[in-house]
Amino acid sequence: MNLDGLAHRIVRAALCTALLAASFSATGQSLAALSCELSLASPEQHLVEVKITLPAGAAQRDLQLPVWNALYQVRDFAQYVNWVRAKDRSGRELTVRKLDKSRWQIQGAENGGVVDYQIYADSPGPFGAQLNAHHAFFNLAEILMYPVDGRDAPFYVHFSRVPQEWRIATPLPPAEGGGFAAENYDRLVDSPVEIGNFQESDFDESGGHFRVVVDADTADYDIEKIVGNLRKIVAAATSWMNDRPFDTYMFLYHFPRGPGGGGMEHAFSTAIDINAEVLKQDSDSLTAVTAHEFFHLWNVKRIRPQTLEPIDYSKENYTRALWFAEGVTSTAEELIRLRAGLLDEKRYLHHLSDEITEFEQRPAHLTQSAEESSLDAWLEGDAYYRRPERSISYYNKGELLGVTLDLAVREASHGRASLREVLQWMNANYAKKGRFFPDSEGVRAAAEAVSHADLGWFFTKYVAGTDELPWNDFLRNVGLRLEQATTTVADAGFTASRNFDGPMSVAAVTPGGEAERAGLQVGDTILELQGKPAGLESRETLQRLNPGDTLTLKTRGRRGGERELKWKVGDRQEISYEVKDLEQVTAEQRARRAAWLKGEAQEATN
Ligand SMILES: [Zn+2]
Repeated sequence: MNLDGLAHRIVRAALCTALLAASFSATGQSLAALSCELSLASPEQHLVEVKITLPAGAAQRDLQLPVWNALYQVRDFAQYVNWVRAKDRSGRELTVRKLDKSRWQIQGAENGGVVDYQIYADSPGPFGAQLNAHHAFFNLAEILMYPVDGRDAPFYVHFSRVPQEWRIATPLPPAEGGGFAAENYDRLVDSPVEIGNFQESDFDESGGHFRVVVDADTADYDIEKIVGNLRKIVAAATSWMNDRPFDTYMFLYHFPRGPGGGGMEHAFSTAIDINAEVLKQDSDSLTAVTAHEFFHLWNVKRIRPQTLEPIDYSKENYTRALWFAEGVTSTAEELIRLRAGLLDEKRYLHHLSDEITEFEQRPAHLTQSAEESSLDAWLEGDAYYRRPERSISYYNKGELLGVTLDLAVREASHGRASLREVLQWMNANYAKKGRFFPDSEGVRAAAEAVSHADLGWFFTKYVAGTDELPWNDFLRNVGLRLEQATTTVADAGFTASRNFDGPMSVAAVTPGGEAERAGLQVGDTILELQGKPAGLESRETLQRLNPGDTLTLKTRGRRGGERELKWKVGDRQEISYEVKDLEQVTAEQRARRAAWLKGEAQEATN
């Protein structure tokens, strides 16, 4: 294992001064650099003290703290700001006036100034910002304000009062004189920061340099095994895209013992949490989420919908394209794992069957389109919204649209093009040209360009519309069909859902059922399921139950109070779907299937 010299840099508790570097904004104006210092003096209290140094400029400056970041959900980080103060360069107090819940105005800053504030940070996981006695992990947008007139200016960040023994890992380049530099605020806050006692490794693959940073109990993982899987993922993804738009990239992992889990994409890094127990039982959990987040470095970070640019940190940033940005990233995740040898045909078709079953079982697939689900992402924090009769998932339908679009492009182009060519076309014509794509219309343009066919029907019916997906029409081409079965399955007597960064909560309890008799109530938080912390894998745990099994839940009621509940699982009839071979699979269908599962056109274009 190699340790990066950068990570060992001891950060001085120096006061930031405005740096003289300048850049040019989109309007052609030269912008003086901004600098800030984040003090970690109070880890036990989870308090970060921030000092932002403003260069000379306008007398009146507005500072904004983002209301959303990492998740497409308004989380109002300003709720954690305890106080805000400002001084001029000579130390004279300046007037600070609050304009709304997340914006402050400073008067008298024409010669520059220093804005100080204290913010509480104890939100764990890859979507949060947290300082505690163990470590700090920051999505900087959740704790760092930006001057509204200076978002395009270079930004320097220093971390001070860092506990001895702690090191810093971030994809940001080091700045001269210590700290880190970013070309602007957007780049700065797209760079997660881990500060603590982590294990680190690195490797070179496919021409790039990769850092692997793990903050977890060393008994819970094997870094060499992780590196082995990462090499395969990197090689498969870069060869599939025929591109590597970076020199270095950082994988940052936490393997917590408690509930939770998830991954967050960034342009030059990813931050991923996986429960330690889940990781030990099943290395698929690591390769699936890692392939997904790694592919995001293209899809959404560089192949980016116009509706997400420029980012509006002050309110919801509505986009119809999350079915593509998230869902098709999940399609690509599975193709990358197939190409990397981390997944085989049988397990892939089983996964596809599960995704189709989940989609068909949600009544809302007939009322909410993939585009509407993207717009409604901002409601996903609400338990009612997550009910099957209210919403579909743009991950779930988006992944299935990626699969069916792939098959439609293959059929329309007689095997000469596939989803790979669609994504490469978007990379070449949008990302590489510095352009953003016009949501679903931009995907359609790419699919039609590579297949030389009109695919308007696909986008009208299945992307903008809620027409039933005719699975067999798509699957026949590769010798497959969908079989519907009514089976007797275990009925736990309740349904539960989980917000990305939140605990699992009970959404509905079957009236008169065993769960209700045991005392389970809507709104209860599920802490443990079958003795394991509730998290990403709980859905699988529930799916594996058999009628007659005993289910054990540890819950917390809406008014507090932990309880252990136990009951015998009942049964019910359920319609499920399975992707299977056609009775007769022709040689042509076999050849097409082989190309499909490699993610390649039959006549490879490169
Ligand atoms: Zn994603």
